[in-house]
Order: sequence, then C-alpha cells, then structure tokens
Amino acid sequence: MRERMEKALRKSNAEYTEIRIESATSSWVNFRGEELDNIGSARTLGGIVRALVKGGWGYSTFNDLRDLETRVREACESARLVGKEHSEFAEVESVDDTTTATLNKDFRQVSLSEKKAVIEEYNKIILGYHDRIETSNVAYNDRFRKVWYCNSQGTYIEDERPDTGVSISATARDGDNVQRGFESVAGSTGFQVVEGVHKKAEEAARRAVDLLSAPPVAGGKYTVIINPRLAGVFAHEAFGHLSESDVLYENERMKELMVLGKRFGSDGLNIIDDGSFSGLRGTHTYDDEGVKTRKNYLIKDGILAGRLHSRETAAKMGEQPTGNARAISYQHPPIVRMTNTFIDKGDDSFEDMVRDVELGLYALDMVGGQTAMEMFTFSAAYGYMIREGTVAELVRDVVLTGNVFETLMNIDKIGNTVELPPVGGGCGKGGQSPLPVGFGGPYVRIQNVVVGGRQQ
Ligand SMILES: [Zn+2]
Repeated sequence: MRERMEKALRKSNAEYTEIRIESATSSWVNFRGEELDNIGSARTLGGIVRALVKGGWGYSTFNDLRDLETRVREACESARLVGKEHSEFAEVESVDDTTTATLNKDFRQVSLSEKKAVIEEYNKIILGYHDRIETSNVAYNDRFRKVWYCNSQGTYIEDERPDTGVSISATARDGDNVQRGFESVAGSTGFQVVEGVHKKAEEAARRAVDLLSAPPVAGGKYTVIINPRLAGVFAHEAFGHLSESDVLYENERMKELMVLGKRFGSDGLNIIDDGSFSGLRGTHTYDDEGVKTRKNYLIKDGILAGRLHSRETAAKMGEQPTGNARAISYQHPPIVRMTNTFIDKGDDSFEDMVRDVELGLYALDMVGGQTAMEMFTFSAAYGYMIREGTVAELVRDVVLTGNVFETLMNIDKIGNTVELPPVGGGCGKGGQSPLPVGFGGPYVRIQNVVVGGRQQ
C-alpha cells in the first residue's frame, strides 16, 4: 500500500497533498421491543485525496484503489480552481509509524448470532422488568477501521481504530406519563466492553419506572451538583466546541470572547482535551493530518490556556497544531474536533459539596440538549433534590439552562476524583456524526443555575 500511495503522491503538483485510505468492517444488532429490528454487517473500502493550492483545498474520494494517480490529479485540479490566496499550513515533523490496536476480545471474531444473543438478554431484562414497561431499544454497534495515511511531506502512518458499544433504552408508561431510562457502554478495547452489563439494562428499566412516580423539579435557581458524566457533556458541548479553532476563526464575536489569558473560572478549574489519554474512545496516536495527539489545556488554573487546531487553523492563528484534525471516515476531510474532553479533578469530596446546600439539585447524565454559541440547554436524565445537606427525592424534567461563561465562573467546588465513563454516542459536527469521543470529569458544584421544570 505504501509504495502505491507514495508513487501516486509523486504525481501531485499541489503545495501539499495527502492520501488517506480506510478499510472498515462493522456490524450491528438492534432490538426494539420484542422485535429484532435490524441486524447486519458491512465492509467498506475507500479513500480520499486532499490537495492544497494557494489556500484552496481540492478533494477526490474513491472506492477503487486502482487508479490513485488519477485521484491525486483530480484533487490537485480542484484545489487550483478554488485557491486564490496563499496557503497557511503549520509545519510539523514528518512521521513514519504503524500502530496496532490491542483488543482483549476481538469483536471481529464474535459471530453475529453471539452478538445477537448478548443483546437479546439485555432486551429481555428490560421488557420483563415491570408491567409499566412499554418498550425497549437496545442497539449494538461495532466498527474496526484500518487507516493508511501518507502525505507529500514524507509522513506515512498505519493505524487501527476499533470502537464498540451498546446503548440501552427503556420506556415506561402510566397513562399520558411516558418516562425513559438510558444507559450505554462503549470502548475501544474489545467485545468484553459490552458483555456482562445486565445491571445497566436493569438500571435503565428501573429508572424509567421510578420516574413515572417522581415529581417534576420545581423551576427556579438552584445550587446544582452535576455528576461526572454530565460534567463531561458540559465540558464537551457547552465549552469544548467553542475551543474548536475553525469555528472560532470565522466568528469575530467569539474570537473577542475567547482571548487566551482571560479568566474563565476559579484557580481550581482545569479543562483538558487529550487525544493521547490511554484507552478512551477519542484516543489516537495521530490525528488525520498525521499530527501526534497530546494533552491540551483549554482552561488551566481558571485561565483560558489554549484551543484545538488543525494544521491550517494553527497557522492562521499563529499557534501550534494540537492533533485535533479528525475525520469520521474516508468520505470526509479532517476538521477540528475534540478527542477526550474532561474537567480535571479538584479538592472536594461529594459529601463536602452536598453538606452546606440547604435547597439544591443533584443532576445526573444527559438525554438531550442544545447549544447556541455561549448559551446552552441540557436535559439531565434525572435528578435528586438536595435538602438540608442531604440527597433527597428523585425528580424528573431536569433542564439546565445558562451562559457557559457565567456558569464556569459559578463553579465553586470540584470533586477530587475524575471519572471518564465508557459511554456510547458521539459528537456531531459538519455532517460528520457520530465521531467517537471520550468525556468526563469529577462531581462539580455550580451556584445559581437556572433549572427549568414545572413552574410552581
Ligand atoms: Zn460535540
């Protein structure tokens, strides 16, 4: 493969050219209620050439590897048609490396019928949990990508990228009252990630049923403690996307707000994106421009310390590449993406956070949300009231709303352990979804959070 790619690249007359080829196998099993809704497997092979001329990018995607030289010429031609300025593309050291994935239990060796049997067990647990359970949705997915990357600056990388997971959803109904419970597990280390998670299925079912009799939270402003999973979603969705330099570069207002060196929170606040963190879903040795991933502080000791870059955005903003150019598949060019994003640990125990809260809310997990630049609305999966320093009754309809900058400033306690829950889902951006990412954090306490719910 290497020889063919290097030979084709020699036909390039662009300033920079790269070829990325991907061979992928995937399989899926999906139960909805009693029905096996969807089951199958797929194998894909394809690639993309990307060429840079005078600041303009040209692309050619393909499924037939036989005529790479023509694909290179096509990408160069397109680039020449759009390139009108001068190219800005940060220098990086060239790399020659091969990385192989280590799977404890290789899901490619597990038959589809065995996968179905495992998923069916979880589905049965939900359906048999309680007579208020109306339906279920249990979806298994796996994907193994092998990527060959070669560019005109001498970099050649072979990389393997496994990902597998199961998402588990239970729906309970009592008249018009419909409630859901969600759980998921996912990871890059093999099929064992999705095995033996019967408890997750039971938890999803129990939560759906319990929420039927839980009152909606009364709307108002509360001291809110968020769990590690919700802290991770907050770090990723509310803040992390604002750190992606392609968006930042094009938005004058955000550029003014996201000034390096500006205070964003207390001294104890650290937010990190780290693609080199071992064993998470957003972990890779190199990004899709052949740049080594690394630990990037977005906020360090409360101060805006960095942002995420591709080679192009790094050059345009006069900063260093960070290893954050990622593509979801060979059909797409790399764009600036997060990897594993988390709030770092602080000094406080969960008990310390709860103890002095007279009336507050403990919010867990997330089932949906929206962000519009610095504004966010997140629906927590469920919550508990905090009354007189103690976690009290279960509540539903927990919707948190705010301005991310104010919210970061209102964080007053940060837990002393970080959890990076191995959950499923992924990030969507620029038509590339779902990209596997990791996220997490400690328990985080925030003052004055606007909580929606039924107004009293
Ligand atoms: Zn995202």
